Amino acid sequence: MLTCKEFDDFMLDYLEGGLPVWQKFMCWMHVKMCRECAYFVQKYRRVITLGKDAFQSPDGMLPDYVPEELVKAALAHRRSK
Ligand SMILES: [Zn+2]
Repeated sequence: MLTCKEFDDFMLDYLEGGLPVWQKFMCWMHVKMCRECAYFVQKYRRVITLGKDAFQSPDGMLPDYVPEELVKAALAHRRSK
């Protein structure tokens, strides 16, 4: 099984669906076994969803419920593309 450190190295690719099947499976296993990483994955996915919602709003205004740290994380994610 992957360590948390190893999972961390693969995590972005895992979340973006860019891993070969075997590594994807190893990551999936780790998320199933490791509460901390599962929690992180869940939070990360939420940030991306909120970020996409925010950037799709027609007037460019962010909804009030989006905390600034989520916006920053979403922006950082977009920049890394
Ligand atoms: Zn872990």
